[in-house]
Amino acid sequence: MPPPRIVRTVKALRATVHKWRSAGESVALVPTMGALHDGHLSLVTLGRRKATRTVVSIFVNPTQFGPADDLSRYPRDEAGDAKKLGAAGVDVIWAPNADEMYCEGFATTVTPMGAALPLEGEFRPGHFAGVATVCTKLFSQVGPDIAIFGEKDYQQLCVIRQVVRDLNIPIKIVAAPTSRDRDGLARSSRNAYLTPVERAAAPALHRALKGVAAIAATSGLINKAIEVATHDLLAASFAKIDYLTIRDAQTLGAYEPNAGRSGRVLAAAWLGSTRLIDNIAV
Ligand code: AMP
Repeated sequence: MPPPRIVRTVKALRATVHKWRSAGESVALVPTMGALHDGHLSLVTLGRRKATRTVVSIFVNPTQFGPADDLSRYPRDEAGDAKKLGAAGVDVIWAPNADEMYCEGFATTVTPMGAALPLEGEFRPGHFAGVATVCTKLFSQVGPDIAIFGEKDYQQLCVIRQVVRDLNIPIKIVAAPTSRDRDGLARSSRNAYLTPVERAAAPALHRALKGVAAIAATSGLINKAIEVATHDLLAASFAKIDYLTIRDAQTLGAYEPNAGRSGRVLAAAWLGSTRLIDNIAV
């Protein structure tokens, strides 16, 4: 496979996509912040199955990081990413710099409510406005037929579906299942921050979610299940649990076990100075 072209300007990107479109081709977009791992590559595989051309964006979006977040230490490895994306058969890497993404005087944002308000919305104020704004811009820059998002960031997926629905953006959002290491830990660029001892403890998060989902699906004793899982996480040396909860899988509002709707167990918890998030279906 030839290495993918790295495109830095909206003008060049549009010219490329226009050429594909004129030839009747379809386009999948996979938005990322780089530091790519096998989880990201599973989104690329899905994109390649569903469209004839695949664009992967790499942009560490400053507006979705809060003041206490890890923007300056967020891992970056464009050369390594390009190699992986070449091997995965990606056509174009869309990697604008911050000035190309946010022009001088930039003053317009997309502020999602609804699914963006609880959970991450409470712990990371402004995060989803940053995500929704940059994704809306990416959709408008690339103009893909479909965009692939990972269930790993389940609330983000719900928020993006909501934005696309509410703003009539003519793109199909496709969800990719969470890719995990053998021991169950969801793959994440942030796993690189974990010390070996923390890495060994980290799969307790997935085990806790599975425990809650299993009890919720059978006995319905949700509060008890969450109590047990919280205890297990703290015993596995998680320092702090931001949330561990079951929500309606679509709205992320309260989960009504008998309402015939799907539930989702979601958690965010700290292992040392690293915040991990994960979720599974009930
Ligand atoms: P990020 O670079 O962390 O912003 O992630 C870019 C995209 O990859 C998002 O749609 C994520 O949900 C998705 N992603 C990240 N990790 C995983 C994973 N372990 N499994 C599936 N998708 C993932």
